[in-house]
Amino acid sequence: MKENYLGVDVCTFNYEQISTSILNDIENDKKSFIVAINPEKIMKARKDKELLTLLNNADYQIPDGIGVVVASKLKGGKIKERVTGIDLMMHLCKVCESNGKSIFLYGGKPGVAETAKDKLIKDFPSIRIVGVIDGYEQDQEYIKEKINNANPDIIFVALGSPKQENWILENMNTSSPSIYQGVGGSFDVIAGNIDRAPEFLQKFGLEWFYRLLKEPWRWKRQILLPKFLIAVLTSRN
Ligand code: UDP
Repeated sequence: MKENYLGVDVCTFNYEQISTSILNDIENDKKSFIVAINPEKIMKARKDKELLTLLNNADYQIPDGIGVVVASKLKGGKIKERVTGIDLMMHLCKVCESNGKSIFLYGGKPGVAETAKDKLIKDFPSIRIVGVIDGYEQDQEYIKEKINNANPDIIFVALGSPKQENWILENMNTSSPSIYQGVGGSFDVIAGNIDRAPEFLQKFGLEWFYRLLKEPWRWKRQILLPKFLIAVLTSRN
């Protein structure tokens, strides 16, 4: 069920398998933490033990970056496709809609989670979105109380990385939701503030190329990919 790249666990499940497992976790009142894994995070975790522990403590480490899929291919692993944070979020919204489970949106600039909520209701008319809070609210007590009063099954946390992962770890044991997913900039995408790459680029694993054209300052992050693949190829496990 898990593979390991340079010390970091990655879940081999596809969207359907994770969605089924998450629904099972909700039914059994099991707390779970979903974190997105990409080569950048793995390379960072090699030098940052705290980050490494944080990533490996999650229940589902999804192969969000194409580099992780390539690494699995090179090592004869089972991961065949990306499981992106935003697509998994959409799958989980569908699962929640079909099974009467509720969700909460926490993060993004003021107003963004509200707009994302409206868009989600358009896509999933029976979905139960029981609350939203923007990611710049400072009052942690207020945040906690609002989430606990709403009592959602799943909370999507969009504070960027590693802020969202740290927030989840600090709060998951004492908050009411079962499932915690860190979703980065996904509320911006759902709200329509940021475009995703055209589908054909996504299909060919070239979303990184589109982001590079749109946000050229990302090249420093992307140059890590070849370094990552060489490190995986020369590693023993
Ligand atoms: N954000 C937030 N609170 C903060 C810092 C960031 O809500 O204190 C939000 C920001 O508005 C954006 C998201 O977090 O919607 C970060 O998106 P990004 O694409 O940078 O995430 P990453 O690449 O780290 O996954």
